[in-house]
Amino acid sequence: MANSRFEYVKSFEQPDVLLPNTWIVVRIDGRGFHKLSDHYAFAKPNDRRALDLMNAAAVEVMKELPDLCIAYGVSDEFSFVFHPNCQLFERRNGKLVTTIVSTFTAHYIYKWSEYFPERPLLPPYLPSFDGRAVIYPNNRILRDYMSWRQVDCHINNLYNTTFWTMVLQGGMSNTDAEQELKGTVSADKNEILFKRFGINYNNELEIYKKGTVLYRQVCANFYDIALSVSTGANMSQQYELEEPKPAKSPADEESPVAESQQSRSQQDKIRKLRRKAQVVIDHVDIIKDEFWEKRPWILS
Ligand code: ATP
Ligand code: ATP
Ligand code: MG
Ligand code: MG
Ligand code: MG
Ligand code: MG
Repeated sequence: MANSRFEYVKSFEQPDVLLPNTWIVVRIDGRGFHKLSDHYAFAKPNDRRALDLMNAAAVEVMKELPDLCIAYGVSDEFSFVFHPNCQLFERRNGKLVTTIVSTFTAHYIYKWSEYFPERPLLPPYLPSFDGRAVIYPNNRILRDYMSWRQVDCHINNLYNTTFWTMVLQGGMSNTDAEQELKGTVSADKNEILFKRFGINYNNELEIYKKGTVLYRQVCANFYDIALSVSTGANMSQQYELEEPKPAKSPADEESPVAESQQSRSQQDKIRKLRRKAQVVIDHVDIIKDEFWEKRPWILS
């Protein structure tokens, strides 16, 4: 509290504030999950329970941080997207990333026994995650980022599905299957699956092919409310929302408004709307326009 002769060390801290008015994506990824998934015997190529656990932890992160607009998950990774107006932790990189990573990890571990009751977590095989923040300057590039992750999901899943079918159903060794798949394109893999194993890749589960997108399902008129709020129009009585629960979450951080286009109270109202909205778990195409056009509030 009081000044001491040691205080000067504070000046060694480097600022790490992220550029204002840009999308912030925090992507986390499981550390050494190849080994961890072997140890806890995840099903190959896709363990449904492991994916459901990832999604459940990510939903809790969305609930705790109303500044998040959307999240996308595949395998052991999740991308969390903060709105350009976000002022949480004054947009400090380290604070944002570490809060997301530790909140996610806490829920992942807390919920583990619900999804894997017969396989208790034991050191040294404890799940941990790394994380990074990247900023994107406009909606188009943010959407290209999301598309990049979903294309990655598709490419990896087609490869993994073909590889593990050749090994588990075709009795091939890992090295032989890997050798045969070297240099193949998507059409070749589809053909191997169909001709040799009678599997139509299109019939695989959407969660495996498309990954998982989380967003807030807001009331039909959220868009109008958000607009009227951001233009400073009075909210009519019927839109008044309950006060959020007093539970303290990182979203309640004090934050300055100087950099933001919206006033603090306007942001608070949008945040309340977001907090109240149900988080939806979906497995759909986010590359085409349709997803975004149907849900204009996500990027608004
Ligand atoms: P790093 O620490 O560099 O991220 P990693 O071993 O986690 O290393 P990734 O490239 O992140 O490597 O790949 C994650 C691996 O975890 C996948 O290749 C797969 O083996 C395994 N994995 C993750 N989720 C699942 C799942 N739901 N079902 C089966 N395996 C999974
Ligand atoms: P922020 O999210 O900004 O860090 P905070 O509430 O965590 O807010 P800190 O400045 O980190 O605030 O202070 C941590 C507070 O947690 C302490 O002021 C104290 O009230 C409480 N606390 C932490 N450890 C202990 C402990 N071992 N015993 C009692 N209280 C503790
Ligand atoms: Mg990694
Ligand atoms: Mg990983
Ligand atoms: Mg990964
Ligand atoms: Mg603290």
